[in-house]
Amino acid sequence: MKFTLLGTGTSTGVPSIGCDCETCTSDDPRDKRLRVSVLVEHAGLSVLVDTSSDFRQQALRVGLRRLDAVLVTHCHADHIFGLDDIRPLNFRHGALGVYANARAWKDIRRIFQYIFEPSHYGGGLPQVLAHTVEPGASFCLAPGFEVTPVEVIHGRLPVIGYRFNDFAYLTDLSEIPPASLELLGGLDALVIDCLRLKPHPTHLWLDKTLEYLAALRPRRAYLTHIAHDIKHARDSALLPGGVEWAYDGLEISSQ
Ligand SMILES: [Zn+2]
Ligand SMILES: [Zn+2]
Ligand SMILES: [Zn+2]
Repeated sequence: MKFTLLGTGTSTGVPSIGCDCETCTSDDPRDKRLRVSVLVEHAGLSVLVDTSSDFRQQALRVGLRRLDAVLVTHCHADHIFGLDDIRPLNFRHGALGVYANARAWKDIRRIFQYIFEPSHYGGGLPQVLAHTVEPGASFCLAPGFEVTPVEVIHGRLPVIGYRFNDFAYLTDLSEIPPASLELLGGLDALVIDCLRLKPHPTHLWLDKTLEYLAALRPRRAYLTHIAHDIKHARDSALLPGGVEWAYDGLEISSQ
């Protein structure tokens, strides 16, 4: 199983437009962060978590040829606004399965009303096969490719993280409910939200992320959804062993 982090930045991306801070003006490629997304390749399938607002650029950068499914965490703009750009994949390979919880489907149908209620003739539309996920209800995309939706809380909004065998991806959260902690034992690798050092009402910050890591004890952890407050090289010194700031293009291989 291979995971490629296509984006690791907070909702504005890094650099942030018009900002002259040390991170936004850094030459280190690890300080350039597109909006968060991960590509999971396993059992001959390519599965994307979130069609970020940078999806087109990310797909071109990684040389994406096809997708077999899209898993949605939640419907904030940075996670879903690239959905229209699945069209070239639809033209070649047909409709694409999109998995999201009921709350996210309500928002997707509203934000992308033109997909579901076409109002004019002509022009290609995204072709979406809707699947609704439930927290804790695992499903298989292929033999040996099991996906478990894990509910986490993002401020007040319940959003979905995903576990794939012994890898889990949890972005945009401020709290992991006890029932979800139980779904996250025995992980080889965990990619988890860590916006910055200072507390935030809807995201984890470093101390809080490290608290969850101490409880979950994954073998390796990578921090994502990173704001410009964090400069990769400078702030790597703040992390304990086995924990790293993620960066765009990072590949993680798991059994
Ligand atoms: Zn986000
Ligand atoms: Zn900045
Ligand atoms: Zn969000």
